[in-house]
Order: sequence, then structure tokens, then C-alpha cells
Amino acid sequence: MTLTEINKKYNTQAKCLKLLEKLRWGKTVKCTYCQSTNNKRQKSDPLRHTCKNCKRSFSVFVDTIFEDTRLPLPKWFTIIGLMLNSKSGIASAELKRNVGGSYKSSYYAAMRVRIGMLQKDTKLNGIIEMDESYFGGKARKRRKSKSHDNINDLSTATNKRGRGTNKVSVAGMVQRKGKVKTKVIEKLTKRNLLYMLKTYAKKENAILVTDGFRSYKELETYIERLEINHKKKFSRGMVHVNTIEGFWSYVKNGIKGNFKSISKKYLPFYLVEYEWKFNHRNFKGNQFEKFLKNALTHEKELEYWKAQSSKEVKEIVYG
Ligand SMILES: [Zn+2]
Repeated sequence: MTLTEINKKYNTQAKCLKLLEKLRWGKTVKCTYCQSTNNKRQKSDPLRHTCKNCKRSFSVFVDTIFEDTRLPLPKWFTIIGLMLNSKSGIASAELKRNVGGSYKSSYYAAMRVRIGMLQKDTKLNGIIEMDESYFGGKARKRRKSKSHDNINDLSTATNKRGRGTNKVSVAGMVQRKGKVKTKVIEKLTKRNLLYMLKTYAKKENAILVTDGFRSYKELETYIERLEINHKKKFSRGMVHVNTIEGFWSYVKNGIKGNFKSISKKYLPFYLVEYEWKFNHRNFKGNQFEKFLKNALTHEKELEYWKAQSSKEVKEIVYG
């Protein structure tokens, strides 16, 4: 949907609300607390329903990214439309220029929209490229003495993995011509990578393509794996990680071009946004409604966001 279509079709709070209720409940309104369908719309406040079973009152906002919002829904819808239609991200300052109000309210709405973009059901198969990338930070001075690691730090192989820096390591997997999934992983151990692989990929009928990093090699006990040869100038046929490398540069260019800086803590939210964009690059249906439906089912992530938002963030990550 274009922004004009969204603004035209959903220009009042009531129209927006009707769509949200339809997408969340279909024809039968369910109590958000006890799931009972025995409830009634309130006459005094058509936004709310009263449950006859548990006697509580609720709205479609309960446990969603819209909970406790004071921003009118048509403005929310504009922000969502702008974010979905932007190719490489959009700054909160620009959102503010479009919907008015404070920078802070646009920023918070944008962060919640990112939560709504989280795709829990990603399952990859076929040829899966796995690779990691490092975000931001400056190289830290190498620590003197203590561990044996110092010896390793001198080798290019370990420097390549960003060790001895305060960069954030992000592991990513992408199915050829399919979806991408990323995860901030502090330590790129076999155990952590295996957990990610098991969560987001179907092992049956899948082949993993990685470089020769030891932790990837060790995944062979779990899944069939092909290794690329970095020394050869051109990739050999299907054995390459060009797709995931393309995704990393898409994310980094997007961050650099649209957001001055992103904190380490909030990097995962932006990664979720770029994943959504990448995964819908060829989507032909109604992405606006698909997003809303996805966003209306994210209770746990919202709790996480609330807890995270209370503290001021110091560390800065550059794309
Ligand atoms: Zn109830």
C-alpha cells in the first residue's frame, strides 16, 4: 500500500481501530486476559470491551506495540507506512517532520514498529549461507600479558574475527533466494552458532555454506557443510557467501545513510527492521496488513523493550 492509500483509507481513529480488531480477532472478539468470547463492546467507550467471564475491560491494544500509546492511530499508520516503504531505513527526525509532535514520540513509535517486524517463524532450508559481521566501535588497545590469547591476536585470522576490539559481532544466515535471520552473538562458539542454526533452520534437505572459521567447521557434526576458499579470486559455482555479504553491506549502508549512530543495545531492533525489509523484497501482497497482523502478536518482545528503555545508553555503534 502506498502512503497516500493508507492515509486515505485510515484517516480516523475509528477506521484504524476497526482494522486492528479485524486483524487480531477476525469476527469474534476475544478477551485479552481470559480468551473468553463472551464479551460486549462498551457503549460509553467504543474502543473498549467488557468481558462477562473475568469482568475485566480491554481494548485491542492490550499486549501489543500500541499499548499505552497517546499517539493517534492515523499517525501510527503513517509512521508504519513510511517505514515499510523506505528502502533502507528512515530517521526518526524525518518521521517527526511527517506526523508532527515530538521527536521522542516518533522515536518510540519507530522502535515499537521495529519490534512489530520481528519474524518468529523464520525457518530456512536449501542452501544456507552463514557468516558473521562486526558492527561499529574502534579497535581497542591490545591487553598486555595475562592470557595465551595475545599470541593469537597477532594472527590475521583472529583479527579478522574482530577479536580484541569492542565491535559487536552479529551472526547471519540466509537461504539462497529466501529469507535472512541475524543474531547478535557475543562469542562465536560452536555452541552459540549451533543453537542459532537449530532454531532457524531445517536440517533436513539443507546444506550450509561458510568460510573456514573453526566454529563453522565444527557445525559439520550437525549439518552437511561446504567451505568456500577465500584465496581464490572468484567464487566456485554455488560455494560462496555472496548473498549474506550483500545483506551485511545493505544493513551497513542503510545505517550509515539514515541513522547517525545506533547504540549497541538497540542494534538488534534495527537488524530486525532490515531483516523484515530484506525478507519482503519480493513480497507482492498487502505488506501493511501483514505487518500489523505480525505486530499484534508480540507480547514478550514488548516487555523486553520496556525493560530496556529505562536506562540511558552510552555505547555507540556505527554502521
Ligand atoms: Zn476475560
